[in-house]
Amino acid sequence: MTQPGSSLSQGNTGVSRPSTTTIRRGRPVSQSTAPRLLIMGPQGSGKGTQAARLAEHLGMPAISTGDLFRANILLFTEFGVQAQSYINRGELVPDYVTNAMLRDRLLKEDVKGGFVLDGYPRTAGQVRDLDDMVAEFGWTLNGVIYLRVDTEAVTERMEHRAIVQGRSDDTPELIAKRLRIYAEQTAPLVDEYRERGLLVEVDAMGDVPEITNRVLAGIGLNWLANTV
Ligand code: AMP
Repeated sequence: MTQPGSSLSQGNTGVSRPSTTTIRRGRPVSQSTAPRLLIMGPQGSGKGTQAARLAEHLGMPAISTGDLFRANILLFTEFGVQAQSYINRGELVPDYVTNAMLRDRLLKEDVKGGFVLDGYPRTAGQVRDLDDMVAEFGWTLNGVIYLRVDTEAVTERMEHRAIVQGRSDDTPELIAKRLRIYAEQTAPLVDEYRERGLLVEVDAMGDVPEITNRVLAGIGLNWLANTV
């Protein structure tokens, strides 16, 4: 279910983007209206899946801070070393590490035409830092997709993922801890974006393609919905 009146806001056109037109999936998409989107929701709400599907349909990268951390850990980078113990304990990585890692990623070329940010911001400090980065780069946030799920379903999905993906932080204790941290620190941020008029609330219970359709409809991209 989508919220009325919450379709994607185009915002200003930014200063750092070319206004060229590219063809994506046979349709012209002006880069000057390239969307910069956040996707929020508790662990197990299908954020990663929906971010990837949405980004693919829009021809832009999905940036997951969780994936960035896991890649950094595998490569033994400075960010990976700093983050690992927090991730292993199911805790949030300190903002100064997370923000620095994200900033590096947002400076890459492929981000210029827009992005879907998954798993960030998770703290009030990160909301402020993202605002600063967005302002610094001359961008505008166009929409915040909030995936609404019931807690029981989320826990079930995470337990399923634990079996399929074998993530070290998907033990029952750490799942509970991460959901608690989400409720305390991240859930209140949804209200902040709602107050800013950016929130697109989506019922995230159901089939994956069905939910993608709701997301696309919610951000005002109805023309894409039937291609999912
Ligand atoms: P995820 O894959 O999004 O569940 O993230 C896995 C883990 O990475 C989280 O439990 C945190 O330890 C860490 N992490 C991911 N994103 C953030 C963030 N925005 N702020 C702090 N820690 C994060």
